[in-house]
Amino acid sequence: MDIKAQLELFVERCKEKKLKITPQRIAVYEVLLRSKEHPTVEEIYNQIKEKYPYVSMATVYRTVEILENIGLVKRVCYWGNSTRYDANLEEHHHFICIKCGSIRDVSFNGNINIPREIDGYTINSVAVNMYGICPSCKN
Ligand SMILES: [Zn+2]
Ligand SMILES: [Zn+2]
Repeated sequence: MDIKAQLELFVERCKEKKLKITPQRIAVYEVLLRSKEHPTVEEIYNQIKEKYPYVSMATVYRTVEILENIGLVKRVCYWGNSTRYDANLEEHHHFICIKCGSIRDVSFNGNINIPREIDGYTINSVAVNMYGICPSCKN
């Protein structure tokens, strides 16, 4: 899905749930859609305030919360203390740099053999976190 289609989906979901659609809310979602860095609320806020100087951090928080509630944004689960968000809803894996903490989506062709069921637990999706050193930390 391209960014335009995803923004339309957002507007649609907001209408369904009777949530207000404001340019600021759309801007928050757009930052998340365009980012490959899994930003924190603060990082989103820093990008938004250039274009919308009157938007508060609270608005950004609230918007991310709404996006999470309507299923358009997910939290990234990793060993880190800042909450990071992901607008990529397709099943994918993450690379996490242990030096700078950056998180990137990664894809690889290797097969990970994970069974459909383990000890009675049914597996619906698989997300792998890979930890290591990113290219800019290597230099
Ligand atoms: Zn790094
Ligand atoms: Zn991701």
